[in-house]
Amino acid sequence: MTSTRSQALFERASAVIPGGVNSPVRAFHSVGGTPRFMVRGEGPHLWDADGNRYVDLVSSWGPMILGHADPRVVAAVREAATGGLSFGTPTEGEIELAEEIIARVAPVRQVRLVNSGTEATMSAIRLARGFTGRRKVVKFAGCYHGHVDALLAQAGSGVATLGLPTSPGVTGAQAADTIVLPYNDIEAVRAAFAENPDEIACVITEAAAGNMGAVPPKHNAELLELCHAHGALLVVDEVMTGFRVSRAGWFGLENVPGDLYTFGKVMSGGLPAAAFGGRADVMAKLAPAGPVYQAGTLSGNPVAVAAGLATLRAATDDVYLALDANATRLGALFTAALTEAGVPHRVQFAGNLLSVFFTEDEVVDYAGAQAAQTWRFPPFFHALLERGVYPPPSAFEAWFVNAAMTEEDFAVIGDALTHAARAAAAAKP
Ligand code: PLP
Repeated sequence: MTSTRSQALFERASAVIPGGVNSPVRAFHSVGGTPRFMVRGEGPHLWDADGNRYVDLVSSWGPMILGHADPRVVAAVREAATGGLSFGTPTEGEIELAEEIIARVAPVRQVRLVNSGTEATMSAIRLARGFTGRRKVVKFAGCYHGHVDALLAQAGSGVATLGLPTSPGVTGAQAADTIVLPYNDIEAVRAAFAENPDEIACVITEAAAGNMGAVPPKHNAELLELCHAHGALLVVDEVMTGFRVSRAGWFGLENVPGDLYTFGKVMSGGLPAAAFGGRADVMAKLAPAGPVYQAGTLSGNPVAVAAGLATLRAATDDVYLALDANATRLGALFTAALTEAGVPHRVQFAGNLLSVFFTEDEVVDYAGAQAAQTWRFPPFFHALLERGVYPPPSAFEAWFVNAAMTEEDFAVIGDALTHAARAAAAAKP
């Protein structure tokens, strides 16, 4: 498989874009080699600048549950774009998207649209602080909530991939109000509330962790109880899980209601859109209804709203059955190939998010994810890539299936995994 065009593009990109990419996880930093420059996506496939086809197991980091360029979404986008790209006024589509989200996720009574998951979590934290009049925020190590200053401490995803403890440029004052605790350790949360009486505005958690790999939550119900016992809000980050793991996201699987929610990815249809929402009394504090300021020139953009709405309307029960079935099938292929090659591994699911950890121990937190034999990942990754499968380029990311995958795609994956498992077996620390 040749990558000369991608290599030339990466060199050109690196001259004008830091690291050659516009988001760090796209670089092949932890796996080595050159990022593939994609030129087209259709259904479950991507094509790169050298004409290679890949079965895409990243799905744009989550949004493309229907597969790429779904005709219904493309038609809705085309129609919206033809009618004007941005008005800076309210539009009916924004109401429809808010209504669709509220109809799916029962604890959400009001919604504000924004442009990225980062904006959603940043705004939700500000609102939680404004509502409670408190400063401190509890987050969990290995959870990524976007590149919000206060939430970058021990974040997962690209921060984990690059091995950064936090980021230069985040001031002590911003970090000082963030309490970072181990995921799934409810006693640590209990202790934090005891040590910081009347100071914690909210606990923010990924509904199910996906940014240290897929790590299902064991603590959500107790988190809610503790938050309410101490006058704090529970902010459930469903940017990754929302409208992917079920029609109501992780809430649909677990039924533990949060006070505030953040959404992005699937509800954007692949365009820049995200949202936060929740309890009516909390959302009422948001400007212009209330005093907590939050705004955006392009928020609720009509083209992005059309893409999100078309995606959610197309995401029927059948789509969720297909996503679940495809995730189960991919997980079984991982297990078969790695067992055959004698590689210690554990395939973990959080709904239909999944990842493979090179350890036999259950991974319940970030320390566990870091303790796995991550050095086996780069050869595993490249063996898949070479055989036409596009995996996430990091051991700390979830794998995202889509509903468009076919028998033929699974045959390609199965064959590639046989080679990848052997490459992982031969890897040296
Ligand atoms: N929250 C979670 C759980 C995420 O996975 C992400 C991105 O991957 C974000 C927030 C940030 O979203 P965005 O990249 O749209 O800013």
